[in-house]
Amino acid sequence: MHISRKPTRTVFVGNVGIGGNNPVRVQSMTNTDTRDVQATLAQIHALAKAGCEIVRLAVLDAEAALCLRAIKEAAEVPLIADIHFDHRLAISAMEAGVDGLRINPGNIGGKDHVDMVVDAAKAHHVPIRIGVNSGSVEKDLLATFGGPTPEAMVQSAMRHVRLLEERGFDQIKISLKSSSVLSTVDAYRIMSDKVDYPLHIGVTEAGTPLRGAVKSGVGLGMLLAQGIGDTLRVSLTGDPVDEMLVAWEILRSLGIRQRGPEIVSCPSCGRTEVDLIGLATAVEKRLMHVTDVFTVAVMGCVVNGPGEAREADIGIAGGRDCGIIFRKGRIVRKIKGEANLIPEFLQELETFLDQRART
Ligand code: SF4
Repeated sequence: MHISRKPTRTVFVGNVGIGGNNPVRVQSMTNTDTRDVQATLAQIHALAKAGCEIVRLAVLDAEAALCLRAIKEAAEVPLIADIHFDHRLAISAMEAGVDGLRINPGNIGGKDHVDMVVDAAKAHHVPIRIGVNSGSVEKDLLATFGGPTPEAMVQSAMRHVRLLEERGFDQIKISLKSSSVLSTVDAYRIMSDKVDYPLHIGVTEAGTPLRGAVKSGVGLGMLLAQGIGDTLRVSLTGDPVDEMLVAWEILRSLGIRQRGPEIVSCPSCGRTEVDLIGLATAVEKRLMHVTDVFTVAVMGCVVNGPGEAREADIGIAGGRDCGIIFRKGRIVRKIKGEANLIPEFLQELETFLDQRART
């Protein structure tokens, strides 16, 4: 299946291009108190290391806005200030050097405030993301559409878009998030036919890591497969660093982008005679921060192991009190004793990584 991306215009968040021919960007949001500069920076560093290309921070008050300057100086990725209702915080954040804003101009107290924010955004070359959630749709639109329907979310976002366009501002991104996967998908589909601004896609309040990963995978997968989405955020109730793994797996599974090794592991069955879960977990842990792209297979038996993992660059198949290591489906070594499987395969993996690093 070929995915043909819908054409959008390009917007820059710092030095990271979103939309146009740029890759689908991966982003997340810190869940630290932004006023705690050290904790926030530690999370930004961890996110960047895990593949996050843009980080958003909540700016709740003037003190948080002031802290952005120190955070910006030490952050290795562009930063977006997430602001609700208060135009003064938006202006302070831009003065502190943030690379992007997430603010809805219709909610910041009238024409003069919108003028001030847009003027500052133009002066600082800062794009603005309009972010509509199903819970933030205006009352009149709820009445007209009978609830926070996809069309109501789109109309709500378009009101904010017009406020910016009327002021000659077009450095716009749009998000339309709902906790309902199907509403989210419909809303983005409608918006994608209306405008060519880059779309920031996500399923909001997706849930705890397992449920959230599934919901995000289904929702974002449906959109991306239709060519919709220029940057994505997977929202999980948990450590935002975990969002990176999910985000990159979604992109990888659709053949859109790759980062780090693909780990193919069988589900195990009655034929499995080794601690396959322990083995797969150890391999995943070792490769957590590897960014090189290759395939590792962790299979439960020698009957199907090498065959099923023929395409893997390196792999292991468990047997009765033994294991077989293979490369590209070809057996290269046998390990005796189940207790030796994990340490010896990890050692083989080190050799493999060393060899790749040298070539
Ligand atoms: Fe079962 Fe072997 Fe297939 Fe794993 S590879 S699921 S152990 S048959």
